[in-house]
Amino acid sequence: MPSDLHTHTAFSDGRLTPEELVAAAKAAGLSYLAITDHDTVDGIKHLYEQGLYPSKTLHIIPGIEFSSEVDGHDVHILGYDFDMYDQELIDKVGEIAESRWARFSLMIEKLHELGYNLTETDVMQLAGASRSIGRAHIARALVKKGLVPTVREAFDRLLEHGQPVYVPHYRLPPAEAVALIRKAGGVPVLAHPKKVRDDVLVEKLLELDFGGVEVYYPTHEAADTERYIAMAKKHNLRLTGGSDFHASPNRIPAQLGEFTIDDELAAPFFHPPASLT
Ligand SMILES: [Zn+2]
Ligand SMILES: [Zn+2]
Repeated sequence: MPSDLHTHTAFSDGRLTPEELVAAAKAAGLSYLAITDHDTVDGIKHLYEQGLYPSKTLHIIPGIEFSSEVDGHDVHILGYDFDMYDQELIDKVGEIAESRWARFSLMIEKLHELGYNLTETDVMQLAGASRSIGRAHIARALVKKGLVPTVREAFDRLLEHGQPVYVPHYRLPPAEAVALIRKAGGVPVLAHPKKVRDDVLVEKLLELDFGGVEVYYPTHEAADTERYIAMAKKHNLRLTGGSDFHASPNRIPAQLGEFTIDDELAAPFFHPPASLT
C-alpha cells in the first residue's frame, strides 16, 4: 500500500477540507497520510476533535510545514508526529499567524496603490477555512475578479520576490523550527531539498537536529533522489517523501495517490492517538 507524507488542506493553501482530503486518501488506497499545512495544526486538530481521525485502513500522522530562509534560499521544514497541543508550538504558530495577517493587509494596500480593486474580503471569501492566507490566495482572488488573467501572471507581475506587491514574511530560523518540533516531541524533516537550490547549504542544514530528509518529491529527478539519499544516510537520517498535494490544477500531482512512497518509510512516524488505542 502507498503512503504520502506531504499534503496541504484548506487550512493553509490547499483546496480540500481535511475531511475531503481524508476521503481522497481513502479513495486512493493510502495507508499513511500526513497533513502538513503551512504554519498551522488547525486542520489536523479539526479532524481529531471531530472524531474523524480515522480508521483501520488509513493512518493519519500530525504534521506541519514551516517556511524558513537562509541567505535568500527558501528552506522548508516539515515536522511529524508531535504533540499538537504543545503550548510552545501553539504560541509560535499564533505569532506566525499574526504576522501573516499584517503581511496580508500590507499586500492588499500595495495592490490598491497600483489600482487593483481587490479587498481583504474578496480574498478571505476565497480562502475559506484557511488561517494562513498567503500569496496563492491573493493570486486566485485577482484571477477570480478578472483583474489578472492567470495565477502565474499574478505571481510574475505582482507577487513574486522583486515584484511590487511582494512583502517578505516572518520566518523562523531553521534552527528554531527544528528545536520547536523536537521540543513538541516530533521529528523535523528537511523538505524538498532541491528547492533550496544549494546543496552545500543543504549539507550544512543537515548538521542541525533533523530526523529525516524528504528525498522523494515530485520534482526530484532520479539523480537528485540518489544524491539526497546519500546525504541522508551520511547524517543517519530517515528517508521520507510526499507529493506536496494541494488539489491545485497548477501543481503536480493534481490527484492524491499519483505520487506516493512505501509504507515502511511512513510507518515509523505513526503513533495512534491515545483515545484510539
Ligand atoms: Zn514546501
Ligand atoms: Zn508543502
